Amino acid sequence: MNIHEYQAKELLAKFGVACPAGIAALSVEEAVAAAKQLPGPLYVVKSQIHAGGRGKGKFKELGPDAKGGVRLAFNLDEVESHAKEMLGNTLVTIQTGPEGKQVNRLYITDGADIKQEFYLALLVDRATSRIAIVASTEGGMNIEDVAHDSPEKIHTIVVDPATGLQPHHGRSVAKALGLTGDLAKQAQTVVAGLYAAFLGTDAEQIEINPLAVCEGKNGDELLVLDAKVAFDGNAMFRHKDLAELRDLTEEDPAEVEASEYDLAYIKLDGNIGCMVNGAGLAMATMDIIKLNGEFPANFLDVGGGASKEKVTAAFKIILKDPAVKGILVNIFGGIMKCDIIADGIVAAAKEVNLSVPLVVRLEGTNVQQGKDILANSGLPIVSANDLGDAAAKIVAEVRKAA
Ligand code: GDP
Ligand code: MG
Repeated sequence: MNIHEYQAKELLAKFGVACPAGIAALSVEEAVAAAKQLPGPLYVVKSQIHAGGRGKGKFKELGPDAKGGVRLAFNLDEVESHAKEMLGNTLVTIQTGPEGKQVNRLYITDGADIKQEFYLALLVDRATSRIAIVASTEGGMNIEDVAHDSPEKIHTIVVDPATGLQPHHGRSVAKALGLTGDLAKQAQTVVAGLYAAFLGTDAEQIEINPLAVCEGKNGDELLVLDAKVAFDGNAMFRHKDLAELRDLTEEDPAEVEASEYDLAYIKLDGNIGCMVNGAGLAMATMDIIKLNGEFPANFLDVGGGASKEKVTAAFKIILKDPAVKGILVNIFGGIMKCDIIADGIVAAAKEVNLSVPLVVRLEGTNVQQGKDILANSGLPIVSANDLGDAAAKIVAEVRKAA
């Protein structure tokens, strides 16, 4: 689950991580009022969308010469004019895709005088099953480009969960960033705060880009100028307060609807809709569709207890995608019996007036009764015997229809 930059910074500040002061705003008037509460004279007007690359992004409505989605403002009039240009318009960045995202909220922050920019991130390293701290002197840049062009500039420091974060981890980060003296101490404080935030929120990723050395009243300060925080969705039941930070308008509507039915649905680019129980079987189903030369339109795990309501909801969600030219249902009736599932499929297919070919592969308890229900339904359901057969059949059906 992703949150906005302003929410991420408010959260990190609670863990003692230094961020510039800022106030979120939903209108031009609120933006100007927010700026008035900040010290000035430099402000930053920042579009709040769930995507990075905003600074270099372009507003669809404003043409290629207009400024991006993160802008400096040197007085209140500029705050006002930037806010007017951003709010309600569509920002296209390398992360939004060509359709872009509408900017409905701004974050007005105290402008920092930047001397140096770094990259710092915490994430779960799946290879070592540990939290990894990734640090680079190449801040403010796209980290994928740095990893590609100059991988030696990326330092990874892995934390052993048995010891937790130790002072030497913070020192290693400071060293990797070339910081000494007081700034090295500040780097250790930032790392400690980020690590505590990571564990305390069940985060999946915290990315600070840039972490910047800024000119402060009392010497140089290390400040978080941009923050991206993603939580582990499966842990959100433990964090009711964090769950409230979710902004549904930023998410794919079909995925939001699926989550209401407790279905794990992720839209993909292909033309064969998949309805499967179990994530592993769902992955295998997508693989075998590809092996047969077509692409899955989605990942969809209906879970262990697939009721008729769930199956119907899943059909409806799959069919909302106009790219879907056929559906493959692949269910292993273990806890759920195949005849119950077949009843659900038939009822759902009738209810949604299924208009694309449907191939069903059932296996497990009461499989023959299940197949009989499908065969006697009067619906043009193609029954398949195993995974390979099912994939070959749906691909043939889709190609026949095309
Ligand atoms: P992103 O483009 O979505 O990653 O948004 P960022 O929040 O990282 O902002 C883009 C860039 O704007 C940063 O890399 C900085 O160079 C610049 N920027 C952000 N905040 C400030 C600030 O307070 N002062 C100055 N001078 N530049 C800033
Ligand atoms: Mg950034």
